[in-house]
Amino acid sequence: MKLYTFTAGYSLVIGRLMRKDQPLKFIRMPMVCFLLERSDGLILVDTGLGTTTVRNPAEFPGIFYTMVLSFRIREGEEAISRVKSLGYHATDVKHIILTHLHMDHVGGLSDFPDAEVHITRQGYATMNGQADKFMSFFHSGAFKHSPKWQIHELNEKPFLGFPQSLDLFGDGNVVIVGTPGHTAGHIGVAITLKNETFLHLGDAALFNDQFLNPSIVAIGTKIFRWKANSTPMKESDSQKQLAAACENVMGLHTICSHDTWTLERWPKFPEPLAIG
Ligand SMILES: [Zn+2]
Repeated sequence: MKLYTFTAGYSLVIGRLMRKDQPLKFIRMPMVCFLLERSDGLILVDTGLGTTTVRNPAEFPGIFYTMVLSFRIREGEEAISRVKSLGYHATDVKHIILTHLHMDHVGGLSDFPDAEVHITRQGYATMNGQADKFMSFFHSGAFKHSPKWQIHELNEKPFLGFPQSLDLFGDGNVVIVGTPGHTAGHIGVAITLKNETFLHLGDAALFNDQFLNPSIVAIGTKIFRWKANSTPMKESDSQKQLAAACENVMGLHTICSHDTWTLERWPKFPEPLAIG
């Protein structure tokens, strides 16, 4: 098995507005995906933006998110291009696991119409009545192809210190954990190869240091969290659990979807992040 990580799109932001230790200049905040190569097929965690955005950003994510929030993707960066560059086809991606349904995590979904798409029941329900509302971050255009949803309930089984989890394939390789707060039903995805675990945290935090060293969080991050979070009280619970997991779990590596600083320290695609 091989695990890869790559970015499928980015947004342009001023670094200092996100973290107090960053310079006053524009940086690219990535949209991070995981790609797991198993003998029974490929598994993708989040999709970032996809070919629809490369072709026509006005269609997805739309003018506002393109111009104001600077959601961008360059041709060749889409998850489908990454998959093809490894010699695979779209149909080799058997499963897509979504941390949540915000548009910057699902924009490439329609590039894999045959994949089973995994989400929690609460995560699925968060979009009800919110799709396409101004600044809701939910865009119905990502789901026009009628994805093959697999809706899950989490078990009351602690994993990595998180109270709820689900071993998705029953072999301990891919375990989803409940990290509610950014959205209800938001999940992290833990992939274990040998004795190392890589935890994709979606938007449970904006960057790892947010829960390890909260004093460096700057105003832009606070505004973003306030605007985008649906249940902020639960977010602080999730972040306490994340901080405890980082301190107590040996061989645990965590990354948040938009954490350019952690991504910089990890192997660059197509070099694998881990081999198991
Ligand atoms: Zn996001």
